[in-house]
Amino acid sequence: MLKKSQANNARLLDIRVNMSDCLNCGAVNPASKGKRSRKYCCDQCCKAFLSKKYVAEERYYTRQNPNRGAKAASMRARKQRAIEEWNTWSAIWLTRAQLAEKLGISKPALHCRIRSAEKRGVIIDRKSLQCGSTYKELINPEDIDKLS
Ligand SMILES: [Zn+2]
Repeated sequence: MLKKSQANNARLLDIRVNMSDCLNCGAVNPASKGKRSRKYCCDQCCKAFLSKKYVAEERYYTRQNPNRGAKAASMRARKQRAIEEWNTWSAIWLTRAQLAEKLGISKPALHCRIRSAEKRGVIIDRKSLQCGSTYKELINPEDIDKLS
């Protein structure tokens, strides 16, 4: 078995013998400034060689889950759709607060009127839409007469 210093010398010698040419492109390396011989002819070759090597070694992060981020994107899209739907409908239809103000009654009174009207079998056109983090009810303004 070689001693440590001998092994070191052998390694250095090995490098000197084998690495006179650029590891990346095979061109003859320029003269070294120090004791160690150059491995690459230029910086670009060094970067190219190491990046190839690191890719082969799988050093770089690769996405394990192919669907990573898809959930967040779909939720964002759903949120955006909800906002658009709310904007379109709230421009035409009335919220309970707006309708109560229009009829000159309080919101609880309006609730009672809607309930009693629906008990009588009157169909009031209303829909529940997402508004921010909650759902709000919108009522068709054509049905105001049924509630007054
Ligand atoms: Zn090179």
